[in-house]
Amino acid sequence: MLVSQTRLCEGKTLEVATTQWPHPHEPVLVWRRARSWKHGPTPEQLERARQRLLTTRKYFFRCKFCQELADSGWSYESDVCYGCATVHFGVLY
Ligand SMILES: [Zn+2]
Repeated sequence: MLVSQTRLCEGKTLEVATTQWPHPHEPVLVWRRARSWKHGPTPEQLERARQRLLTTRKYFFRCKFCQELADSGWSYESDVCYGCATVHFGVLY
């Protein structure tokens, strides 16, 4: 499962979700504030900010095998998502 998402809170704050693993088999989606606007973004500003987040390595990466954009919490190693790690390296979770 790959999760990559952003949401707008109260019309003014853009948040980004990444997966964290407080316990080995229980991923938790953690929302962090990425950016906020005093009076709320225009649709263009919002879209630009979202695009920027999706290319921010801290939050998302593109898997070198499946070319999917993945939440950085799902990286098995640099540039490899968990799904592909299972297929290509025989890693089980
Ligand atoms: Zn992959």
